[in-house]
Amino acid sequence: MEHIENDDKYTGLTVNEGVKQPPVVNPYLKRRRKPMPTVAEMVEGILKGDVTMLSRAVTLVESLSPDHQVLAQEVIEKCLPHSGNSRRIGITGVPGAGKSTSIDVFGLHVLKRGGKLAVLAIDPSSERTKGSILGDKTRMEKLAVHPSAFIRPSPSAGSLGGVARKTRETIVLCEAAGFNNIFVETVGVGQSETAVHSMVDFFLLIQLAGTGDELQGIKRGIMEMADGIVINKADGDNVDRARLAQAQFRSALHLFPPTTSGWMPEVLTYSGYYELGIEEVWAMIDRYFEFVEGNGYFERKRREQARYWMFETINEQLRNHFYNDPEIEKMLVDKEMRVLSNRQSSFTAARDILDYYFSRQTERQRHQ
Ligand code: GDP
Repeated sequence: MEHIENDDKYTGLTVNEGVKQPPVVNPYLKRRRKPMPTVAEMVEGILKGDVTMLSRAVTLVESLSPDHQVLAQEVIEKCLPHSGNSRRIGITGVPGAGKSTSIDVFGLHVLKRGGKLAVLAIDPSSERTKGSILGDKTRMEKLAVHPSAFIRPSPSAGSLGGVARKTRETIVLCEAAGFNNIFVETVGVGQSETAVHSMVDFFLLIQLAGTGDELQGIKRGIMEMADGIVINKADGDNVDRARLAQAQFRSALHLFPPTTSGWMPEVLTYSGYYELGIEEVWAMIDRYFEFVEGNGYFERKRREQARYWMFETINEQLRNHFYNDPEIEKMLVDKEMRVLSNRQSSFTAARDILDYYFSRQTERQRHQ
């Protein structure tokens, strides 16, 4: 365009032509999120080891939407025949025991042998806080940038049973995507260990030395589930105390009944931070797998776990169906008041509600 200022009378003033602008400054700005891939595309991607597809399928598994759930189940069903080929290891310990530091180091150790590693988590607290702490990438700095590692925080919505089931389903997807090492992390303070125990082959309990013989908030039941107890932070001044704790745990374990696998849980000391004794911990885990694969327990336990999850899923869905029913919800409030004020016994109140629930189910079936 000719500018008037470019006339000779405006000497000293010239307007230069501007830089040609591209039609859109940032071509990515307007791009929409890709549409949801089909079940077939997702399965194909997962089987090829495509981590983006894997992530999208896991998101589907975690979704609360009934439509997504249907799709997720289809993907899982198709991946199931390609799953199972992994070592599933549960890792637990109280907050501060050094789980994330250790998983980072253990994970790198495992990956040195080749293969791939998925780190999943079950965090019962996330239900309340709506944010999951476990399995968070920022806590595992080295693994987070490793090309063969897939880190996924705990699913955050729903009951512990629901959260655990989703993690179990995610294991199937990860295995189908070629992840032959699965770590499932959890906090060693509550019910979640039982859930983790029922989906892993080896259960590792991380403990600390120096708090005497009380079990640092770890319940006896959790110790009984452990296939290996490792005492972390065996470094610097802490080495002697770690050894002492090792002796204490060893003698405590002798008091427990023998395990069904026939494996005698081992107690070791190590330092996740200074990377001391890591090979020994992993040699123990190798010994365990050799032992249980040899005596048939590995297969037996996996079959038993599959059965357990079938019943767990049924229980969870029945409970949801019952408690999420608006009429039942109303009736529960009323009956609860009556029971609390001694106007009705717990048993007849429960029977009334259940009778109503079942009679309505029959009614619905008749109308169908
Ligand atoms: P988590 O809550 O169980 O995941 O524990 P973290 O891995 O976050 O560790 C808690 C704290 O213990 C951090 O400050 C770590 O640096 C420290 N820590 C972890 N492992 C070791 C270890 O082997 N030796 C020492 N001295 N400190 C450690």
